[in-house]
Amino acid sequence: MAPLVTEAIVLHAFDYLETSRILRLLTRDAGVQSVLARGARRSRKRFGSAMDLFAQGLAEIHVRPNRELQTLASLDVTRARSELGADIARFTAASMISELVLRFPYDEAAAEIFDDVEACFDRIGGADPGQTLNAALGGAWRIIAHLGFTPALDLCASCHAPLDPAATVSFSHSAGGALCARCGAAAAGSRVLPPAARGAVREWLAGTDASRLAPADVRAHQRLLREFFQEHLGTDRELRAFRVWEQGAWSAA
Ligand SMILES: [Zn+2]
Repeated sequence: MAPLVTEAIVLHAFDYLETSRILRLLTRDAGVQSVLARGARRSRKRFGSAMDLFAQGLAEIHVRPNRELQTLASLDVTRARSELGADIARFTAASMISELVLRFPYDEAAAEIFDDVEACFDRIGGADPGQTLNAALGGAWRIIAHLGFTPALDLCASCHAPLDPAATVSFSHSAGGALCARCGAAAAGSRVLPPAARGAVREWLAGTDASRLAPADVRAHQRLLREFFQEHLGTDRELRAFRVWEQGAWSAA
C-alpha cells in the first residue's frame, strides 16, 4: 500500500519502550493519526525536532487498515515551533488547543481544523506576552465552530428571537449559546454574559483578537470556553490541559 504523505502537526508525544516515541499527529488529509516513530530516541538524526510537541512538517506514514497505531517513516519539519515550548504561557495555551482537537477523535479529512490549529499555534507563538490568552481563546472558539458547535450570540439559542447587542444575556451551554430574557429565565445553570463578553466571542469567531480584555474577563472567558466544550463533549472526564492553562493564568495575574 502506498504511504500516506501529508502535512502534519505533533499534538502529543511520549516515549515508548527504550528507543521509540509515539506521536499523535493532526494531519491535513487524514485527521488525527497515532504513529510509532521507531528508534526515534536512539537516533536524533533520523527524526530530529520532529519528535517535539507542536512541530509541523511533511509526514510519511505507513497506514495499515484497522490498526490503531500506524508507522511513521519520516517527518520533515518545516516549523519546529520552539517558541511555544520556551514559554510557559505559550506552552500551556498550545497544549489546551491540542487537547481540544484530540478530544474529538475523527479520521476524516478535516483540512479546516488543520488550518485553524496551524494559524492558532502561529498566533500564540507570535503574540505579545499580554496577548497570549487572547490568541488562544480566539483559536479555540474558531476550532469549536469548525467542529460544528458555533455558539448562538445574536439570536436566542432556544427560540431564535433576535437579541439586543447591548443586553446582558444568559448563556446556556446545553442550549448552545445566548438566550433571550424569556428563555433565560427558564434555563437552569446558565452563565451571565455581559455585552462586552458576547462581543469578544463574536470577534474571536470572526477571526480577530478581542479588544480590551481585563484579567478577570480573561478568566471568565477561559471558564466559559471550558464549560461549553465540556458540555459538547458529553463527558465529565477532566480536561487536564484546560485546567493547567487556567491555573497558569491565575498565578500569572
Ligand atoms: Zn428565547
